[in-house]
Amino acid sequence: MSRYTSCGKPGCRCQADPPQRHGPYYQWSRAVAGKTISRRLNETEAELYRSWIANRRRIEQLIAQMERTSADAGELLLHQGAPTNPPRTASR
Ligand SMILES: [Zn+2]
Repeated sequence: MSRYTSCGKPGCRCQADPPQRHGPYYQWSRAVAGKTISRRLNETEAELYRSWIANRRRIEQLIAQMERTSADAGELLLHQGAPTNPPRTASR
């Protein structure tokens, strides 16, 4: 998310050899209706966004895991021959 940029001004230090680029800048971008929207963030905002992104990744992993589990369960149920009753629980 953080990146260094060069500004394109002739003779600026970011054009030197080796280049000393400007930054780091934090940029957050997402696709909305086919367009990429980006925001420049300061360090504090970037820190916040980092934790939100980490949370979202964890949720996506959980959802993927649930999808795998339900796919496996579906396979099992199909092989058992389309049960109309829910699986039996240990009831006495
Ligand atoms: Zn520059």
